[in-house]
Amino acid sequence: MAKERTLSIVKPDATRRNLTEKINARFTARGLKIVAQKRLQLSRAEAEKFYAVHRERPFFSGLVTFMISGPVVVQVLEGENAIALNREIMGATDPAKAAPGTIRKDFAESIEANSVHGSDSAETAKREIAFFFPDI
Ligand code: GDP
Repeated sequence: MAKERTLSIVKPDATRRNLTEKINARFTARGLKIVAQKRLQLSRAEAEKFYAVHRERPFFSGLVTFMISGPVVVQVLEGENAIALNREIMGATDPAKAAPGTIRKDFAESIEANSVHGSDSAETAKREIAFFFPDI
């Protein structure tokens, strides 16, 4: 296994409920280091660009509106196998299908307001990290 970096986002439903520290504790407990982190408000144009891969999906417009409904915390997680490990810690997209002990099972409100984002491949991680952290 190689040391990797992945892009994580604490979504507006979670920042609204002050869950960032609890979510970060899930990452660090499993050996992921938070090597960069910032809280920001996405514009509609930024959210549309970030989720451009989903633009043809029926949930795209709702997803963008949700992602700009409050601040997000964007972060770079680093560790062995970080991309897959973070996906495991997050749990399935739909909290009803997420495994016990995962972030989405414990905190998500719905399939849309599901508390966290995590890159799904090495290629995506590279692009998503550059989107928010062009200098690291
Ligand atoms: P992820 O990689 O687990 O975040 O899932 P996807 O890349 O498939 O979807 C991106 C985001 O779109 C998800 O995290 C949800 O916030 C939202 N989403 C995905 N599927 C649905 C859906 O069927 N309905 C709605 N309303 N939102 C969805």
